[in-house]
Amino acid sequence: MKLLEERILKDGLVLAGDVLKVDSFLNHQIDVELIAELSKEWKRLYEGEGVNKIVTIEASGIGIACIAAQYFSCPVIFAKKSKSSNIGNDFYTDSVVSYTHGGTYQVVLSKKYLGKDDRVLIIDDFLANGSALRALCNICEKAGATVVGAGIAIEKAYQGGGDMIRKRGIRVESLAKIRSMSDDGTIVFD
Ligand code: 5GP
Repeated sequence: MKLLEERILKDGLVLAGDVLKVDSFLNHQIDVELIAELSKEWKRLYEGEGVNKIVTIEASGIGIACIAAQYFSCPVIFAKKSKSSNIGNDFYTDSVVSYTHGGTYQVVLSKKYLGKDDRVLIIDDFLANGSALRALCNICEKAGATVVGAGIAIEKAYQGGGDMIRKRGIRVESLAKIRSMSDDGTIVFD
């Protein structure tokens, strides 16, 4: 999506460790009008798929998922980060390897809010190695819900997470796909 690519080129900063910093419009300050445009595009792509729940992950997915949900007229459920792996039977859980902070943590989602009648669109800001998206797909599977697909703002395609999830048969629609990113700040899109 041209609009997002142009914004990344204008305001994105390439940091060490293959991290793209987009704090001025996505991860700290949020450009709501931009996210509304991304949401309209996800809505167009998933039109007619009967999406009735949006699932995302704490914390940076929540803001964009809530804007997207207005276009799908459905609720948002966010998987919560949990320190304990022993949280009882009322939650679906899976583990995530944190891209930005390192280490592994559990995410939990209450069984109350997701079930076999749900048709889920997963929304997230970034797709890198795919650990966060894989955990959300696993949780939906455990709930018996149907994953209609994923709507990602920025996919770093060279890191392979998108390929891994697509191989699983899950549709992934990323609105900016980065083919390469170098320390001198050069960003190339697919
Ligand atoms: P993955 O699980 O696919 O390896 O990483 C996805 C998660 O890590 C996203 O939810 C996002 O929060 C974070 N992330 C991965 N790569 C980047 C990046 O380049 N920049 C920022 N700001 N976050 C990233």
